[in-house]
Amino acid sequence: MDIPGFLSGITFAANAYKAAVELQDEAKIIAATYELQAQLTIAGAHCIAMNEKVAAAADHERMLKTRVRDLEDEIAELQRRAAERERYDLVQDFPGTFTLRIKESARGAEPVHHICPGCMDNKALKSILQSENSIHTFFKCPECGTVYRTAETPTEEGMPFAF
Ligand SMILES: [Zn+2]
Repeated sequence: MDIPGFLSGITFAANAYKAAVELQDEAKIIAATYELQAQLTIAGAHCIAMNEKVAAAADHERMLKTRVRDLEDEIAELQRRAAERERYDLVQDFPGTFTLRIKESARGAEPVHHICPGCMDNKALKSILQSENSIHTFFKCPECGTVYRTAETPTEEGMPFAF
């Protein structure tokens, strides 16, 4: 029953009670009293049900706000990752070996370096490749352990790795 429905039930019962009192008809007064009590009980039940609906709606709204906040955080994290990935180019400094090299335009004060493409693109982890030997012909990802050959082994001295 909607609110006007049960309010008109109470009004009707109250009017019947008033009329019975004016008539001083005890039987009608008793019947009208019962009817008024019944209508008030129905109204009370409606109020309880409405309170429960309001509480459920508030819970739902809180849950939706939390979900929106979580999604906003997720979007911000994805944008941060995409921006970080954008700073690197996929390069092939040695035939068949692909690494991600920092773009000159995005380098700033950082030294030239390469990162592991597997870790960056599959696990969203930035792992800077570290030299495995003194002549810098092999580099290793400290995160996944992949070794990247970056240059021929020199046959003469003084053939530095040209990062
Ligand atoms: Zn890696």
